[in-house]
Amino acid sequence: ASPALSRIGLAGLAVMGQNLALNIAEKGFPISVYNRTTSKVDETVDRAHNEGHLPLSGQYNPRDFVLSLQRPRSVIILVKAGAPVDQTIAALSDHMEPGDSIIDGGNEWYENTERRIQEVSQKGILYLGMGVSGGEEGARFGPSLMPGGSYEAYSNVQDILNKVAAQVEDGPCVTYIGEGGSGNFVKMVHNGIEYGDMQLISEAYDVLRNIGGLSNSELSEIFAEWNRGELESFLIEITADIFKVKDEHGDGELVDKILDKTGMKGTGKWTVQQAAELSVAAPTIAASLDCRYLSGLKEERESAAEALKEAGLKEEVGSVKSGVDKKRLIDDVRQALYASKICSYAQGMNLLRAKSTEKGWNLNFGELARIWKGGCIIRAVFLDRIKKAYQRNPNLASLVVDPEFAKEMVQRQAAWRRVVGLAISAGVSTPGMCASLSYFDTYRRSRLPANLVQAQRDLFGAHTYERIDRPGSFHTEWTKLA
Ligand code: NAP
Repeated sequence: ASPALSRIGLAGLAVMGQNLALNIAEKGFPISVYNRTTSKVDETVDRAHNEGHLPLSGQYNPRDFVLSLQRPRSVIILVKAGAPVDQTIAALSDHMEPGDSIIDGGNEWYENTERRIQEVSQKGILYLGMGVSGGEEGARFGPSLMPGGSYEAYSNVQDILNKVAAQVEDGPCVTYIGEGGSGNFVKMVHNGIEYGDMQLISEAYDVLRNIGGLSNSELSEIFAEWNRGELESFLIEITADIFKVKDEHGDGELVDKILDKTGMKGTGKWTVQQAAELSVAAPTIAASLDCRYLSGLKEERESAAEALKEAGLKEEVGSVKSGVDKKRLIDDVRQALYASKICSYAQGMNLLRAKSTEKGWNLNFGELARIWKGGCIIRAVFLDRIKKAYQRNPNLASLVVDPEFAKEMVQRQAAWRRVVGLAISAGVSTPGMCASLSYFDTYRRSRLPANLVQAQRDLFGAHTYERIDRPGSFHTEWTKLA
């Protein structure tokens, strides 16, 4: 007799694929797994055995893999984004039939997903582009899942996704996102927001360390304390832990020995590019990306520190430091971080809204905030408040004008300005906090100096302008009148 067919398949057994496959098997869904390099199949089979005899079957070629699945078949792909996904689809789809589905769980560019939806539809195959967040741990024990594309493909695996995803009090961290490449797009913006959060946290650390003079153990305590309040989140929690880790190779803590150069894989850059394409201001996320670029110029920065006399600031830093009340600084930084974070989320949500309108995706922002409450890297208590803000008003122009958030921002602005002001006088750069603050200040001004820019545009390019006191568009021969 032929062996029982698996409920689902997963191809691509690197870190993410292995862990997600084990998670699915552990939830009681028999799974077949496949990887181009077959040693990873063996590894996964061994892990399934060692982690509790999970119902997982290893397959060693694409045909056997596909034929080991119940129909309609659903196959998750977790390989490197880009060409490897096309190659994997080609290898698998030869053996698939109309009504079967492919689910790409990689960090894929959304337009690639839209192209593939079209391509595989020629064979009657359904397609989902599913954002998966939470890294290795998330994949194994409960990620946040953002599936977009064919609703039918989603329905076929909805029961599995609901079980496999992280669970929060208001349900599993998964929802059908929308058509086309919406799942990948939402994951991309999630990553952009993650860049913003990480940058803002690093600035809080920088200010507390270099102006407040806090030690690593004090920083660890402060972050742990913050994690019991409004900032409670995965990133704050791991930050508290990072400060405690001792260096195995020498004195002190490991964090101080790490080279200050940030890596990246591209989703933050795509987010900023999309913001520009859609004419959405996302200055905090852009500042985070710029900071990663600048961090990469380690040698250039070392020379610039000489040429631009970084050391010359010592006295000013000293005088700023000596005037600082440590306790108050800590409290101010907490408030500045929170307010800056709200601005950053407002930018990300507005980018999603602009894309949703352009593509007709009909995204549900409250639901997006809900599925980010667990499993993913930006998971935070505060996302529940974002969810509620969009439930109160699905057409909210910006998170910052939601009555609750607006109140909090206004309450925190004095502390926020004190932190940014101190940092500026001490030469401690806080590009994310500054970007958020100027976003806030610009957005809430009823009159900006854009009138002058319009006058200039009209003078040199006859681009015309509108007036505040009468309708129509106007052009002036400025130079004749000057
Ligand atoms: P990865 O390092 O991005 O990719 C390695 C996997 O891709 C291996 O299974 C490899 O197979 C396969 N592969 C590469 N080129 C291939 C080709 N031409 N044909 C067939 N297979 C090919 O793996 P990962 O870190 O697990 O990530 C998988 C996806 O999830 C990526 O899109 C990633 O961006 C996304 N993601 C990752 C994380 C994370 O924390 N790592 C978090 C969220 C999302 P071989 O073993 O045969 O080389």
